[in-house]
Amino acid sequence: MCLKKVGDTVNIWLLILVCFTIISIFHQLMFTHLQGFAKLTEPYSNKRPHLAFSENIFQKNHHVLTHSSNITNKVNNSRIQQITLEDVFISVKSTKTYHRSRLSIVYSTWFKKAAKQTYIFTDYDDPFLNKTTDGHVINTNCSSYHTRKGLSCKMEAEYNAYMKTHKKWWCHFDDDNYVNIKRLVAVLNQYHWKNDMYIGKPSMSKSLRSTFRGEVVDFWFATGGAGFCITNTLATKMSPWCRHGNFSETSKDLHLPDDCTVGFIITNRLTVHLTHSELFHSHLERLNHLNPRTFADQVTFSYNTGINGLNVISIPSGSHVFNVTYDPTRFLSLHCLLYPGTQFCPK
Ligand code: UDP
Ligand code: MN
Repeated sequence: MCLKKVGDTVNIWLLILVCFTIISIFHQLMFTHLQGFAKLTEPYSNKRPHLAFSENIFQKNHHVLTHSSNITNKVNNSRIQQITLEDVFISVKSTKTYHRSRLSIVYSTWFKKAAKQTYIFTDYDDPFLNKTTDGHVINTNCSSYHTRKGLSCKMEAEYNAYMKTHKKWWCHFDDDNYVNIKRLVAVLNQYHWKNDMYIGKPSMSKSLRSTFRGEVVDFWFATGGAGFCITNTLATKMSPWCRHGNFSETSKDLHLPDDCTVGFIITNRLTVHLTHSELFHSHLERLNHLNPRTFADQVTFSYNTGINGLNVISIPSGSHVFNVTYDPTRFLSLHCLLYPGTQFCPK
């Protein structure tokens, strides 16, 4: 019995040993398997595509901000050949509906200061406007709608017309912009026209993300509603994405309209940064925050006189100009502040 007990004890110990060995082997196998699994997933987790992507964006943002400080891009005026208004081609986007309401303000004011350089790109033959602007109206035959297709078709027409001029700068504006022509030329002269330059104001504080032909893309753009300027050397490099209908195709494949497409071509495809200027203003910002004492320093202004979102510059009270009923956009008054000798201004 005692021997049997000893045998039983040995059996129990043998059973424990066998169980332990099985558990160890199983554990070892599982560990190796997990290690193998970890090895398999490692390359992917290390790549962290999304994080890497956002790091990339950060670098891009940083790049833009560094250059938008207006220090790196500005040139020593004394060393460069100065441009004049003759070296600038100005395109204004418009549509039939705004020929009277918006363009009458444009051609009564700033257009006169750059009548030879400025062309209106619209969607309708207008003999009256053609006469008033001395033939500077181009019917693009594009759709008149405020859609990606219509707007990009007009931007392509503006680009093509500019490329034929071979001028040093191309500036685009909307028909609800006031362009301070004297200041525009002075500001352009702060940059070298021989460099790849894209100047304007982004309407967003970060880059824009979209997809282009199956690729996720990030880029910056200057909002068309504040206007932007591009040098000839850069515009020439844009040609593969713009010429022969390619601009509209690029815009279609980017799923975004005209100004975004310009920004995409320049800052993403050509990796040329946007030079951020605080002197260009669209109605996406609060225009009454602009200090009237700085009006002469600004390059562009805009307005929104819609009932839901009145947004206009604030003309100082006491200025001998027009009231809001006569001049709701405030552009006639602004013009009188900048050029007090103008015939239509109150004397
Ligand atoms: N525009 C156009 N077709 C339209 C409406 C507007 O071509 O049906 C043009 C308009 O002439 C202007 C630009 O698109 O130059 C921007 O239009 P708007 O100022 O009305 O809108 P925003 O985009 O500034 O809100
Ligand atoms: Mn507008």
